[in-house]
Amino acid sequence: MRVAIYPGSFDPFTNGHCDILKRAAGLFDHIIVGVLVNPSKSCLFSPEERVEMISEAAKDILNVRVIHFNGLLVDFCHQTKACAIIRGLRAVSDYEFEMQMFSVNHQLAKDIETIFLMSSPRYSFLSSSIVKEVARYKGDISKMVTPLIEEKLKEKFYSS
Ligand code: ADP
Repeated sequence: MRVAIYPGSFDPFTNGHCDILKRAAGLFDHIIVGVLVNPSKSCLFSPEERVEMISEAAKDILNVRVIHFNGLLVDFCHQTKACAIIRGLRAVSDYEFEMQMFSVNHQLAKDIETIFLMSSPRYSFLSSSIVKEVARYKGDISKMVTPLIEEKLKEKFYSS
């Protein structure tokens, strides 16, 4: 069975992430969305909230599981018996960071391949940061995230 990890912060999961996930799910037997728990990065949503929101967004993709992890991505791949890492590429600006991550992961684990999927043009502008900025100022994010995630963002920004 071919398993791949789709890792990221997903703070929050956007329709751009979902597009990559759906396309990756067609290429592998099983995809694990790995929600990165990084104590040095301050996130709006807790790892548990992010897992819950992604699980709901991906409920119709049957070969997907969502879990959070910390530590090295390649260790997480070995623990879950994954043979590949999926990453999305939006613009040239993503390339440098992704190349660096690929090089480190490749050095640490030669048995894990990194597969890059190009963002669909309609999502190439979309990022979690943009979604948070628009939501913070009460802009329309209904085409950027699922209804549940839109609701959770509103709760975070307007309910205090
Ligand atoms: P990071 O892992 O750097 O914290 P994210 O959690 O935002 O970043 O994204 C996880 C992965 O999804 C990365 O490979 C990122 O390039 C990709 N990605 C983010 N937004 C989009 C998008 N709109 N279209 C395609 N891929 C995306």
